[in-house]
Amino acid sequence: MSEFLSKDYGSLVPYEPGEQPKIENLIKLNTNESPFPPSPRAIEEGEKELSRSRLYPDPENTRLREAIAEVVGNGIEKEEIFVGNGSDEVLFLAFNAFKDKGIAFPDITYGFYPVYARIAGATFREIPLKEDFTVDFEALKAQKGTVVIANPNAPTGIFAPLSEIRDLVESDPNRIVVVDEAYVDFGGESAAKFIKEYKNLLVTGTFSKSRSLAGARLGFGIANEALIRDLNLLKYSINPYNVNRVTAAMGIGALKDEAYTRANCAAIEKNRERLAKEIQAFGFSSLPSKANFLFVKHETLSGEEIYRSLRERKILVRYFDKERLRPFVRITIGNEEQTTSLIDALKAVAEGI
Ligand SMILES: *Cc1c(COP(=O)(O)O)cnc(C)c1O
Repeated sequence: MSEFLSKDYGSLVPYEPGEQPKIENLIKLNTNESPFPPSPRAIEEGEKELSRSRLYPDPENTRLREAIAEVVGNGIEKEEIFVGNGSDEVLFLAFNAFKDKGIAFPDITYGFYPVYARIAGATFREIPLKEDFTVDFEALKAQKGTVVIANPNAPTGIFAPLSEIRDLVESDPNRIVVVDEAYVDFGGESAAKFIKEYKNLLVTGTFSKSRSLAGARLGFGIANEALIRDLNLLKYSINPYNVNRVTAAMGIGALKDEAYTRANCAAIEKNRERLAKEIQAFGFSSLPSKANFLFVKHETLSGEEIYRSLRERKILVRYFDKERLRPFVRITIGNEEQTTSLIDALKAVAEGI
């Protein structure tokens, strides 16, 4: 870094995105993208918008927020929706907006949380997951400030029942609970239905996973109007045009095709259950996942060894260099053909051939 960089950022350790290598015929199962293309409706709406790119987008994103509110249901209105450049941006703004009493989150979760907490200058605590890799809600309740959880969690894939979320939200009305629902469409259930009841709940969602729009960068937040106004205060102070025209149009198009999203999610769930079951025969086991990935370990091989052997077979997955995670690899669920290739490869890896 240069001598000009602010000392505030000199010791920042950034989030490490998964590799995006250019290897031919690679089966890419390392960043939880969808194996399916965006809905034809999303592409059609996006293409129509391209030629209007001379003009700034609607800073209020009214049509997109209405469309999201409608799909979220539960009587949610557009005033209760915030949109961002990926849910990463929504989370970043939330970490900044709600940091005063400190921020707590599980020690094993989305790698961005500690980075956002640091860059926001917030004090933060990482609360260990329990022995079985579930979230320790009692320990989180004992924290004073904002609590952030991913549900389903990453990279475990474990979904915490909504009753636990509700108890946490109720335990202290003076504390914000942020529920990151990036993976909720793959068998989980959304806490968005509690928004009308509690003023201290923020739910975030993304178009990157279930709606195949990771490259378009579109995410959203759902909360009562006052919290949405807080997020807007920051957004209008930093970048009012945070969601570009083409992306907003693609999002609206995707929401007009919920049948497509549901069919893709059902296919992912089916492939996930097949993978979890079939690889048991070769000494693999996995945590119970409600996400579009599976957290897998082997009785003798380490996560890094599994990663390397799969990579030699042109299948890319992710391993984590962190104490409790070393036995595991996180494998994104692909389409049926990719799942078949993966199962064959895992068999070969386990048999050492
Ligand atoms: C992928 C992911 C996100 C969101 O990513 P965006 O592409 O920025 O919407 C948020 N949280 C978790 C836990 C994720 O895995």
